Amino acid sequence: MSFGPEIRYSKWEMSAAIDEPDEKEVPQRQVSLRNTRQFYSAILSVAGLFIVVWGLILFPKYENPSILLLLLFFAIATQSTMTYLVGGNVSVSVSGAISFAVAGLYGPVAAGMAAAIAELGLWLLSLRLKNRDWYHELERLGVNSGIHGVSIFTAGVVFVFFRQVLGSGNFVLDAIPWFIGAIVGDQVNFWLLSIIIFLANGVKPKEVWRENRWAIPMNVLVMSIGGGLITLAVIQFGLLGLAIFVLPIILSAYSFRVTVNNAKKQMEKLEEMVTLRTQALADANHKLEALHKEKDSFLAVLTHDMRTPLTSIRGYGSILRDRELTRDQQTKIAKVILNSQDTLLEIVNNILELEKLQSGVPILLETSSFDLALLVKNTTESLETQALEKNITLNYDQIPSPIIVKADMSKIRRVILNLISNALKYTPESGLVSVKTEVNGRYAIFVVEDNGYGIPADELPTIFDRYSRVKGHRHLAIGTGLGLAIVKSLIEAHNGEISVQSEENVGSTFTFKLPIN
Ligand code: ADP
Repeated sequence: MSFGPEIRYSKWEMSAAIDEPDEKEVPQRQVSLRNTRQFYSAILSVAGLFIVVWGLILFPKYENPSILLLLLFFAIATQSTMTYLVGGNVSVSVSGAISFAVAGLYGPVAAGMAAAIAELGLWLLSLRLKNRDWYHELERLGVNSGIHGVSIFTAGVVFVFFRQVLGSGNFVLDAIPWFIGAIVGDQVNFWLLSIIIFLANGVKPKEVWRENRWAIPMNVLVMSIGGGLITLAVIQFGLLGLAIFVLPIILSAYSFRVTVNNAKKQMEKLEEMVTLRTQALADANHKLEALHKEKDSFLAVLTHDMRTPLTSIRGYGSILRDRELTRDQQTKIAKVILNSQDTLLEIVNNILELEKLQSGVPILLETSSFDLALLVKNTTESLETQALEKNITLNYDQIPSPIIVKADMSKIRRVILNLISNALKYTPESGLVSVKTEVNGRYAIFVVEDNGYGIPADELPTIFDRYSRVKGHRHLAIGTGLGLAIVKSLIEAHNGEISVQSEENVGSTFTFKLPIN
């Protein structure tokens, strides 16, 4: 880096209290800090103005004022290539070197004037005319020109003093005044700035020092070497020397600014990406949590629902073993045992089926043309005994007109079986279940209607979700909440649709439609 950072008062992050209109609510300490700040700003502004006026008064006395004008122009130009670094308080600019060079050529007053005018130039360039808070803007200008005017002026005075004391002879003697001047100028700059930062933002000078001290050596080097070289070049080559030395510096300052700004943009993009990734991770965690919950509730359902038929098989099994029973009693018990086994088998089948559906492998359909109406009749018939056990009237068309569909018959049978057994399961004794099949346009429609427990409106939207069971039904019938999820996947695999209408304690109607092709 061929130029150095310079701490600058660029940010107005004053505590809200400073702008608070109602003074009574502002703590006393902050009011007094604000007053002190305003007083301090005023002193700096007057100092800056004084140096500028003084410099202008001396203007006619300078020999070769065109070079001074050019240096002033360069000082302004370099200010606008300034790059803000850490927190906006440190900026990289070669303007300090140029102003300091003015000290070598025209003396401390001209140097201070150049620094203050460079601030004015920067201020004008950064000014947006709309919605301006003029008081603060002027204060910013006054403070910055004051700080830089005074610090470069002091650096110039120290430089001139040491040059006179040491005289010029060899390279080392020539360099020392530049270094000492730069160190003093940098420190004056730092302390004047720290005071205003403390008064405006309450940040202690120690903290500003800690954060920005890395910039000090660079600033000193750039001011001294830059200032010295520019002076040397002008003395040796006049205007040409100025151009040879300053232009590359300005260009490299500008390219540095572009690089830093690009890096900043890159950082912002990175931050954005990190935020997005964090969000995605949080989402994934949520999903994982939901999956864990699902797994837990599934295990709870399984243990509960498998235990009931298992207990009944075990109980009736020991009765068969231990007691003398009539043939009739034996048949009855065997029936209960077989029923319980059916229930267990259904649970296991459902789990296996769902496992298959979830594995992501598309459902394989073994399609054939068959009579859906006949399939419905036969399946319903097979459930008649189940209906009889609960004294439920099971209505269905005994001689249906054929409805030919092209589908996977065993899967559709599964769907029909599931829907009708649900209707029987969730309808109390002596209820009514009606099954019908019909054609509507290009669709075959299957409807099963019951006058059973029904489904509460708030649980209806999620009834086809896995493990979803109506809370009030858990003590009424055994189940896993998997049947309807499977039914839905199977119907959708056939490009069909399934729907439900239900009212609590009135009954439910499940309907599916399959395209006829
Ligand atoms: P399972 O019957 O094994 O619990 P399903 O997925 O087949 O699982 O059904 C999910 C839930 O939907 C059932 O637990 C029950 O609460 C409700 N349900 C299903 N069919 C009916 C129906 N015909 N009438 C009332 N509720 C029903």
